[in-house]
Amino acid sequence: GRKFFVGGNFKMNGTISSIKGIIDNLNNAKLDPETEVVIAPPSAYLLLAREHLRQGIEVAAQNVFDKPNGAFTGEISVEQLKDLGITWTLVGHSERRVLLQEEDSFVASKTKAAVDGGLGVILCCGESLEQREAGKTIDVVTSQLKAVADKVSDWSKIVIAYEPIWAIGTGKVATTEQAQEVHAEIREWLKKEVSPEAADNTRILYGGSVSDKNCVDLTKQPDIDGFLVGGASLKPAFIDIINSKM
Ligand code: 13P
Repeated sequence: GRKFFVGGNFKMNGTISSIKGIIDNLNNAKLDPETEVVIAPPSAYLLLAREHLRQGIEVAAQNVFDKPNGAFTGEISVEQLKDLGITWTLVGHSERRVLLQEEDSFVASKTKAAVDGGLGVILCCGESLEQREAGKTIDVVTSQLKAVADKVSDWSKIVIAYEPIWAIGTGKVATTEQAQEVHAEIREWLKKEVSPEAADNTRILYGGSVSDKNCVDLTKQPDIDGFLVGGASLKPAFIDIINSKM
């Protein structure tokens, strides 16, 4: 079975005080032991998060660079993340793909560096509204994933997050049918293009306006193995989302 997985992507939000507050909430909450929990604070707070968070909850970076070290101003390497006790990284979030023009091949190269270094990767993919309306959703998502499959053969450290761009931060969550349909197609793609084992074992998360109100229905879909939560991960409702399978 695939262990249920809930990630909290804080994006560029928080202060020392508010992040400590979120972590205190998590540390004191009764969390479903069957759910894997990972939080991704902004890079400046990674060490603070790791030091305050109890064992059993992991910390992710929101991004990583694909080179080991050197003259790359503003970037952080896989080894530096590991040095801080960080065990996961997000890669290819749509906000980076769109606002910072990250291309599929660069996202793939970062995924490879992270996997080779032993980090877990939350690999984000997803289509824009325009692409969905043009019937291109599956093409877009599978070509984002294919760029990674071209460089990485071992998917055991990768969790896929399907995040339709039109659902991110809009309050317009995908319907359970819309999410399940894409998740099933991603799993089918994994089976054909990576391996049957990867299809069986890879967690596929849904992200985009997940809340304590809509999460339970989404958990009932056979191919939804967890969530990547943005705005609601900053709020006490995050605990309810973590426990949505209980
Ligand atoms: P929201 O949950 O705020 O829509 O953000 C989703 C997201 O982008 C998580 O990575």
